[in-house]
Amino acid sequence: MVLSDLEGFIWFDGKIVEWKEAKVHVLTHTLHYGLGVFEGVRAYSTPTGTSIFRLDDHIDRLFQSAETVGLSIPFSAEQLKDAHGEIISLNNLKEAYMRPMCFYGSESLGIRADSLTVHSIVAAWEWPSYLDPETQEKGLKVKVSSFRRQVRNKLSKAKVNGNYVQSIVALNEAIEQGFEETLMLDTDNFVAEGSGENFFMVKDNKLITPDLDSCLDGITRRTVIELAEELNIDFEERKIVLDEVFNCDEAFFTGTAVEVVPINSVDNKKISDGSRGPITEKLQKTYLEQVRGKRATNADWLTTVET
Ligand code: PMP
Repeated sequence: MVLSDLEGFIWFDGKIVEWKEAKVHVLTHTLHYGLGVFEGVRAYSTPTGTSIFRLDDHIDRLFQSAETVGLSIPFSAEQLKDAHGEIISLNNLKEAYMRPMCFYGSESLGIRADSLTVHSIVAAWEWPSYLDPETQEKGLKVKVSSFRRQVRNKLSKAKVNGNYVQSIVALNEAIEQGFEETLMLDTDNFVAEGSGENFFMVKDNKLITPDLDSCLDGITRRTVIELAEELNIDFEERKIVLDEVFNCDEAFFTGTAVEVVPINSVDNKKISDGSRGPITEKLQKTYLEQVRGKRATNADWLTTVET
């Protein structure tokens, strides 16, 4: 599938544009320097119809990222939220991956980035399971990246387009060496996160995840922490060193795209016996029930799309 060849509509600067006509000029500022902000959002089929998961939190984070880099989004949060619903319904999607993004136009290429227009898009398409059902159970073979994630400052923790250069390079390094994902350490050698996922491990029945010094404040991460609390799973947020990962009982990644996915080995060393652990399985199952509206709790996390 070539993404740009899909049929349908994209919300572009407040207008509905045919999928193939949603284009920008080659001198687009963000294309050259990576200064833009974006989100990855999912909508699921639920008993009350198609619902967007934690849309308010995604839009809040989009505005926070924009504020961090001084980019002024020319639409209100409400307008962008409505655009998500509109585009799902126009494209007749039951489940969708959604990509809101705000980026600079092509008025000039100066580094100072003034006098530039800010453009906004919301696209939605079917991206059923990023990871096939078998991987959801078997888990991922992970390589520790030779690249260090730059963290501990506001900029690197915002969801800014250019930050993804490090993720892409690190993931490609892992894939070239026969792995499926990468685990990045931060510049102080603490465990940070995956290319587009937060990291969790379980040791002696306690769920542990790196503190926010080292990683994106992931919305799936927040969800899993809240679900763990509901399920009475002990939880700790702290710095993790790599040795602890090699000796943990279970490990998994979280993210909007991958949802909750086990890690079966790191640098070819199995995590326990290499199969999905019981706490990972429980959180994965509960997460999938939550996003599909099959739990009575946290109903406010779902925004039902008007059709
Ligand atoms: N870390 C990074 C670097 C990411 O790009 C993502 C994906 N947004 C995540 C973690 C997970 O965040 P979320 O659960 O909000 O998708």
